[in-house]
Amino acid sequence: MRLFVLPLRQIFSFRQFQTNSIRRQSIAPIQIPMDATEQSLRHSLSEKSSSVEAQGNAVRALKAARAAKPEIDAAIELLNKLKLEKSAVEKQLQSTITSSGNGSLNREAFRQAVVNTLERRLFYMPSFKIYRGVAGLFDYGPPGCAVKSNVLSFWRQHFIREESMLEVDCPCVTPEVVLKASGHVDKFTDLMVKDEKTGTCFRADHLLKDYCTEKLEKDLTISAEKAAELKDVLAVMEDYSPEELGGKINEYGITAPDTKNPLSDPYPFNLMFQTSIGPSGLTPGYMRPETAQGIFVNFKDLYYYNGRKLPFAAAQIGQAFRNEISPRQGLLRVREFTLAEIEHFVDPENKSHPKFSEVANLEFLMFPREEQMSGQSAKKLCLGEAVSKGTVNNETLGYFIGRVYLFLTRLGIDKERLRFRQHLANEMAHYAADCWDAEIESSYGWIECVGIADRSAYDLRAHSEKSGVALVAEEKYAEPKEVEKLVITPVKKELGLAFKGSQKNVVEALEAMNEQEAMEMKATLESKGEVEFEVCTLGKNVIIKKNMVSISKEKKKEHQRVFTPSVIEPSFGIGRIIYCLYEHCFSTRPSKAGDEQLNVFRFPPLVAPIKCTVFPLVQNQQFEEATKVISKELTSAGISHKIDITGTSIGKRYARTDELGVPFAITVDSDTSVTIRERDSKDQVRVTLKEAASVVSSVAEGKKTWQDVWANFPHHSSSAADEDE
Ligand code: AMP
Repeated sequence: MRLFVLPLRQIFSFRQFQTNSIRRQSIAPIQIPMDATEQSLRHSLSEKSSSVEAQGNAVRALKAARAAKPEIDAAIELLNKLKLEKSAVEKQLQSTITSSGNGSLNREAFRQAVVNTLERRLFYMPSFKIYRGVAGLFDYGPPGCAVKSNVLSFWRQHFIREESMLEVDCPCVTPEVVLKASGHVDKFTDLMVKDEKTGTCFRADHLLKDYCTEKLEKDLTISAEKAAELKDVLAVMEDYSPEELGGKINEYGITAPDTKNPLSDPYPFNLMFQTSIGPSGLTPGYMRPETAQGIFVNFKDLYYYNGRKLPFAAAQIGQAFRNEISPRQGLLRVREFTLAEIEHFVDPENKSHPKFSEVANLEFLMFPREEQMSGQSAKKLCLGEAVSKGTVNNETLGYFIGRVYLFLTRLGIDKERLRFRQHLANEMAHYAADCWDAEIESSYGWIECVGIADRSAYDLRAHSEKSGVALVAEEKYAEPKEVEKLVITPVKKELGLAFKGSQKNVVEALEAMNEQEAMEMKATLESKGEVEFEVCTLGKNVIIKKNMVSISKEKKKEHQRVFTPSVIEPSFGIGRIIYCLYEHCFSTRPSKAGDEQLNVFRFPPLVAPIKCTVFPLVQNQQFEEATKVISKELTSAGISHKIDITGTSIGKRYARTDELGVPFAITVDSDTSVTIRERDSKDQVRVTLKEAASVVSSVAEGKKTWQDVWANFPHHSSSAADEDE
C-alpha cells in the first residue's frame, strides 16, 4: 500500500490526519555518494581540459608572432601529448561511470534481448496492439499466464496456507467514501507538468531525474562539484514540493522531451481512475488503486470469523488500477496490475511472533537507514540480530521480511540481487512504525517489488472515524483491573450557544483529544479561563471557555481492554516480481555450431510455464503411440507439458523449449525407453517408458532433485547428449 508521506518539516505542524503527496518510487531513491575515483577523474579531466586550452592558445600565439619553426613544433608536440592525456582520462571516466552502475549501455542491450524474447514467445505483449496499443497496459500470453498462475499459487501456498490466513476477494469498483477515508481521494497524486503548446503530460520528477542522470552519464565536461550537486538532487528530489521541483526544472532549463517546448509549473494529478456506480451518476466511485482497503472495511467480520482472536492475517490477490502519468519501464510501471496483499492484525502492545525463530538465522542483504545515510552499501545481516538490535522494529515485521526473502528466492530471484531497504525517516508516513522494501536489481536499477510496512493503527482508525463502526479488538482480563480513564464531557448547551451550526465539529474535536492534549487544555482553562483550540474539520481555531467542557480522570474497574489493532502489511507487485524473475533467469549460450546465441530461461520448475516437452525423435507410429501414453500419464499427474512433433532437428526443438524455460524434455527414441534431458546442464538420463512420467513429475514438483535422478538412472552428460544439436 502506498504510504502517505509527510515531509519531516511538515509532520509536526499538523494535527491529526493529514497527508501529503504520496511517494512514487520504483527505482530506489538513495544515491550513493560520488565514488572517489569518479571525483578525482572529474577533477583531473577539468585540469587536462584547461591545460589543452592553454596550450592551444600558446600555439596560436606563437604562430601569430611568427616564432621559429622548432619552437612552434615543440609547442604542438606538447599540445598533442596533452590531448592524448585528456582523452585517456575521458576514457577512464567513461568506464568508471559505466561500471559503477550509472552506465546503461550494457543494461539496455541485455534488457532488449530479454524483452525481445519475452514478446516473441508471447510471455507478454502490448494490449490492443492492432490499434497501436495503450501505454501502460499489457496482455500476458500463454507462457506469461502460466508463470503468473504458478507464482500466485506458490504465494497462496507460502503465505495463505502456511500461515492460515483468511483470503478475501473484494470488488475493484470502490465507492468514493472508502477512498476518501483512506486518504486516496485527496492525496493519491503525482506531480505533473504539461508541454505548454501540445498539452502532452509528463511526470515532473521523471524529467528532472532523466536530466540529472543523462548529464552524469554522458556529459564528461561537468565539474566534480556539478556532478555532486546533480547526485544530491537525485537523492532528495522525492521530497521536493511542487515549487521546489518547478524551481529546479527552470534552473536547469528542462523542456518537453520531444518538442523542446516550455513546460507548465508542476501540479498534483490524482492517479485513480474515476467512475460512477449505477446509471444515475450520483454515486461516485473509483477503480481501486490497491486491494488493502477491501480488507480493512471487512475487519469486524473477519475478526469475528477468527473467533475474536488476534493476531490474524487476511490476504487478497487482485487487480489494482493507477492512471500513471507517463508509464515506462515495461511491466514495471503499468496502469493495471496484480497486487497480492496481506494485512496482519496484531496487538500494538505485543508484536512478538511465535514462528520468528524459524527465520531468525537467515542472512541476507539488508540496507538499514543508517547505512544509506552514511553512503555505505547494503550488507549481509542476520535477521535475528537485526530484530534484537532494534534495526527492524519488531518480530512480526522481521518475520514477514524473512518470509518474503524465502518466497522470492524460492521463485528464482538471485539472492545477490535482492536487498531489503529500510525507508528513510523522510520516506515514512508519520503513522508508520517501520517500513522495508524488498528491492530487486534489474536492468532498470533497484526496483521496489514488495513493500513491508508496520502501519500501526492508521487504516482501521480512519475507517472507524468515517463509517462510525468501531473497528477494534478486545482483550478480556482474567481479573477486572482498576484503571484511570480520561473523561471529556463537552457541555453541549454552552457549545451550541457559542458555535451554533458548527457545534458538532467542535464537540467531535474535543472528544478526539488524546490524554496529553486534554490535560494541557484542562490546565490552561483552570489558569486562564479560556483556550484557543484548532478544529481541523472547520479549518480554523476557536476559543473554548471553562464552562464549555469538563475534563477529568476517573478510576474505573475494567473487564477488558478495547484497542485498535496495528497492521503489518506486506504488499507484493506481482508483475514487477515476474519481470525481475525473467531478467534473473535469462541467459544465452552459443549454439553447437557456435554461429548464434541461444536464449534460455533458467526458471526453477516451480515457476516454469511448462514443466516438460515430449517429442518423438522421428515421426513414426510407434513413437507417436509412446508419446501419447506419456502425455496421458503426465496429464493425470497434473504436469503441464507440450508435445512437439514437428520434423525439425532435435537440437532445434531443444532450443525452442529452452527459450520457453521448459526444465525437462522427454525424447521418445524407442518404444520401450526414453531419455529425459535437463535444461541447464543439458545432461540426459535413460528411463523406461513406464517410468518417464513419474520421474519427471517427482523432479518437477521438487520431491526429488535432478542429482537424485542422475544418480539412479543410466545417464550421459551434455557433451555426448548434444550430438544432435
Ligand atoms: P505501493 O502501494 O505504492 O507501495 O505499491 C505496492 C506494490 O505495488 C509495489 O511494491 C510495487 O511492487 C507495485 N506497484 C506499484 N505501482 C505499480 C505500477 N504502476 N505498476 C506495477 N506495479 C506497481
